Amino acid sequence: HLDIEEVTKDFGRQQVLKGINLSVARGGTTAIVGPSGSGKTTLLRLIAGFEAPDTGRILMDGKEVAGSTWVPAHRRNIGYVAQDGALFPHLSVGQNVAFGLDREKFRGRKAVQERVDELLDMVALDPAYAKRRPHQLSGGQQQRIALARAMACEPEVMLLDEPFSALDAGLRVATRRAIGRVLHQAGVTTILVTHDQAEALSFADQVAVMRGGRLAQIGNPFVVYTRPADRATAEFLGDAV
Ligand code: ATP
Repeated sequence: HLDIEEVTKDFGRQQVLKGINLSVARGGTTAIVGPSGSGKTTLLRLIAGFEAPDTGRILMDGKEVAGSTWVPAHRRNIGYVAQDGALFPHLSVGQNVAFGLDREKFRGRKAVQERVDELLDMVALDPAYAKRRPHQLSGGQQQRIALARAMACEPEVMLLDEPFSALDAGLRVATRRAIGRVLHQAGVTTILVTHDQAEALSFADQVAVMRGGRLAQIGNPFVVYTRPADRATAEFLGDAV
């Protein structure tokens, strides 16, 4: 369970987040949609622990990770996949995936290789790809590797910042389905930032509409899209089609 309570964030004189309240149930999937500059990425970065909120708090399973206490990013058990995957270009696919493994738990080359193969299998990639370099794979395959690397840490929460937006339409749907299935089967709590309405509808059980640093509406995707809370939300969702 992830809880965000009254979170604010300023950059200089600009208040980018103006009091965000959001709960995501364990194993649930929330899509955050909203215009460019509304604060979506900033919110993800605060949840990840890359940045601290100015006020408010963030709790994971009831335990405060930001607020009066501070748990750094590497202790939060959170995975993060960005728009371009951000794979390490100088490492092989296998080394990229192995990067996230707990080396206390997976000791020795054989144990590491077995786990990497399992993770590649989980994202439906042949283990033979382990020896390739990221640039030798398609965009969709690279995003699946990025997910495998993030899953290697066995995260409780996965943050996806427009992970499919650089892919062409056909690949986008296939990759979204593959990634959605992996996260769902693993029961990982997921937050997805997206511009794509179809993606939000098919991927998430809750949609949060962000505007000007606030959440204008939170609810079941069908309700949000059929009964927008106000005119600006209706216009934004209409434009997003
Ligand atoms: P997009 O859909 O375009 O990615 P977004 O909703 O994710 O936008 P953010 O990236 O969170 O929006 O940015 C919100 C605002 O905060 C923008 O005006 C941006 O310029 C500003 N901002 C974000 N990060 C910083 C920073 N590190 N320093 C200063 N301003 C920042």
